[in-house]
Amino acid sequence: MKNFETKCVHSGKIKTPFRSINTPIFQTSTFILNDKDYEKIKEKRTREINIYTRYGNPTRSSVETKIADLEDAEDAISFSSGMGAISSTLFTFLEPGETILTTIDLYGGTYSFIKEHLKKWGIEYITVPPENTGEITRNTKKSRILYFESLSNPLLKMVDIEKIAESKTEEQILIIDNTFLTPYNFNPLNHGADIVVHSATKYLNGHSDLTGGFCCGKKEMMDRVWNEMLNLGASMEPISAFLLNRGMKTLSVRMERHNSNAKEIAEFLEDHNEIKKVFSPYIETYPQKDLREKYLHRGAGGMVSFVLKGGNERGVKFMHSLEVIKEATSLGGVESLVSMPFNTSQRNMSKKEKSKIGIKSGTVRLSVGIEDAGDLIRDIDKALEKSRG
Ligand SMILES: *Cc1c(COP(=O)(O)O)cnc(C)c1O
Repeated sequence: MKNFETKCVHSGKIKTPFRSINTPIFQTSTFILNDKDYEKIKEKRTREINIYTRYGNPTRSSVETKIADLEDAEDAISFSSGMGAISSTLFTFLEPGETILTTIDLYGGTYSFIKEHLKKWGIEYITVPPENTGEITRNTKKSRILYFESLSNPLLKMVDIEKIAESKTEEQILIIDNTFLTPYNFNPLNHGADIVVHSATKYLNGHSDLTGGFCCGKKEMMDRVWNEMLNLGASMEPISAFLLNRGMKTLSVRMERHNSNAKEIAEFLEDHNEIKKVFSPYIETYPQKDLREKYLHRGAGGMVSFVLKGGNERGVKFMHSLEVIKEATSLGGVESLVSMPFNTSQRNMSKKEKSKIGIKSGTVRLSVGIEDAGDLIRDIDKALEKSRG
């Protein structure tokens, strides 16, 4: 078995008759069938052959092999977006009338999907605070499907995955969204999770030029998710698979820089007197230091959230004053991006929900890119000065 960095570059490469060093884009909707293919279709082994691009495509198989290798998974499926992966996965395993155990510390789209969309199918949900392992494990028996983020959006809380896994039975399925940490920093499947989902739009691709998603786990489970993907139609386009493959080759070098830049910026903000509070696993006052030591040996990714003095109004002025850091939603690209949860990702949340998570007026979410850390710090410092009273 090769090391992570080598797998990023080489995993999933397919052999072509032209001995190309790269996996080409098979930009085709369909494939020529022969008698062997008809046999496979008859045996219901259609996942093994190329018949139609919604079902499968060699460029896509190539990135699926790569993410499976990086997440230490038996198998993986790609999707047209992270939400495609999350909705298809939840629809695969949830039955009407069931309850899902989760938290409100979730990506906004996932939370609305669970709260509003799944409700239509008679699916209820129970929420627990991610940082309260005791409360989570006391509740695991109430639900067959457990859903958490390995590092939460936007306040970067961790869950004790091993403790949750120990408190559940074989029949229960623990699904972890590993988007913020990436397999470079953490592999949930090696700590008791059954399924890992990703928005590949973020760090995995890393260049803010496509949307994509993954679901990884045991082959038997992935066969079921694949079937759901066929029905929902959220399959990844070959050109996105090609670009994603290229992005993932540099995942380890990019993550190394995201990790070190985010650490420097979190420490700078922690000492700044215009900042009320910093949310980051990199700082000394991080409330879940024990989990950080237990699980995060390389780093915690490139996200840093903080509350600045002067509330949301000043926050907006601060964002407008930045020059290098761009004001946009999304995260995980080479360029630094800034947004505020109140008017983007958490805009649909009630005041009560926001206060439950701990999102206060003036909360800013920074996706630290791979630029020079000094340039980013000077940009932040100047914008803090410019946006003052
Ligand atoms: C962005 C994101 C998603 C949704 O992914 P899309 O690619 O935008 O559909 C899910 N989970 C997390 C943690 C995300 O950041």
